[in-house]
Amino acid sequence: MPIRVSSDELPEAGPSRNSNSPRSSPGLDGDDDLIEEEGWTKETFENRSITKQNPAATPLLRTTMDKLKEVITRIEEGLELAKETAIALEDSKQDEPSIDDVEAAFFKALDQRQLLDIRIEALKELMAQLQAGQDFPNIESSYEELATPKETEYLAKSKRAKYKNSTEYAEFRSAIWEINHTTACPPVSQWLEKGPDDESDDDEIDIGGTTQTYRCPITLTLYQDATTSNKCGHSFSRAAIMDLIDSAKKQRRVSKCPVTGCAAVLEKSDLKANPSLQKRADEFARRERRREDEREEGDDTIAIDDDEEDGDY
Ligand SMILES: [Zn+2]
Repeated sequence: MPIRVSSDELPEAGPSRNSNSPRSSPGLDGDDDLIEEEGWTKETFENRSITKQNPAATPLLRTTMDKLKEVITRIEEGLELAKETAIALEDSKQDEPSIDDVEAAFFKALDQRQLLDIRIEALKELMAQLQAGQDFPNIESSYEELATPKETEYLAKSKRAKYKNSTEYAEFRSAIWEINHTTACPPVSQWLEKGPDDESDDDEIDIGGTTQTYRCPITLTLYQDATTSNKCGHSFSRAAIMDLIDSAKKQRRVSKCPVTGCAAVLEKSDLKANPSLQKRADEFARRERRREDEREEGDDTIAIDDDEEDGDY
């Protein structure tokens, strides 16, 4: 992926203009004909020396990084959408075969995000080196040298090696699982075929095997305004965790994450609304009610169910 930057971020560049001009010079003498509306191309960018003295250098890298981060945000929306789709498919029919296609798309999105993370790390590294005074006669190739080997290494891994420890994949699988099972979701390795490099990982612990309860660990009831800590990944009902942090503050002590065994210290700024978790909690509650109704229909006794509205949830 070439580093691209729009012309207005480069002080020495002339005004942007559509280059329909027949003149076409490959020089780097500020010729505006080189600056196309879209910004610099890989070719025009490649030969320009980037130094700490060049005030455009750091913003340029930062802009590129911001663009990559934007793409990551979109990929994450895609991951969420794929999960929703898989849930809907499983809900329509158990083990619906097209879930495999959705899974393939999910993997692809995880890969893309991983590759972008590698690119972002490479840019951070370049920025650090630039700050340290290093010059880059050809920043594009320095960028490639940093990123490409890591990308190649990642892409060579087996599925199992790539996704076995992905919390998102574990969530994807458990979200599908719980539609038609009341037991805990098996470890994700069940769905990840072993590759040639995965011979000896049998003893490793992989993610999964837990039942998602959708209950707030503080209130022990189903989430309300589900809120997730970005420090430790634990989730709570919003009001409950906020109260906990407030009362800790009043007593002048730090607020430890209330999940047993978690050592994270939580601030309000670490907590983020998690509407997708809330949605799943609501769907879970709906399925539970449906199961209950089916059980009751199976009974011979005629029960007048008067507590449907004020159930446990
Ligand atoms: Zn925690």
